[in-house]
Amino acid sequence: MSRKKTKKFDASIPRWRYWSHEISSPKKCPKCSSTLEEEFHTYMLFVKEGSEVASFIAGNDGGWFCPNCPVVVFDHDKFANMAMMGGGTQSGLFMVADIVNLEAIPEDKRHLPIGDDDNPIPLVEFLNDKEVINSKRSSHVRKGQQRKRLKSRKKKKKKKR
Ligand SMILES: [Zn+2]
Repeated sequence: MSRKKTKKFDASIPRWRYWSHEISSPKKCPKCSSTLEEEFHTYMLFVKEGSEVASFIAGNDGGWFCPNCPVVVFDHDKFANMAMMGGGTQSGLFMVADIVNLEAIPEDKRHLPIGDDDNPIPLVEFLNDKEVINSKRSSHVRKGQQRKRLKSRKKKKKKKR
């Protein structure tokens, strides 16, 4: 195997995630209107079945990448199929949690099972999720990052008569 990059779109770049049914024009970038390009990539999915949540890794060509800005649009049908096949979900509840950057795995570790202690999964989270995570973790955010604190408003005391 050569060390040449085989992907046009670098999986290590955090991107904005959109769904094919959320955007008005299916193969156009919702941010810059460039024509999107399909490429096969590997993803970490979460599937929910009842109260159980499972994760699994699988690849497909249902990601449409913008050549101009960090945006990826997911073909909802292809991912729903993958969630049903790979995750065994009947509920259809799934989310694409991360892109797996397989190219970040060193060659000498490629024979190891992915997710092994010696071979952690190189996950790249989406910009959408980073925002959510940051605001959830705001109490742990240290210097250099602005705190978005949700002020808990004091409840107005009811006047007792
Ligand atoms: Zn774009």
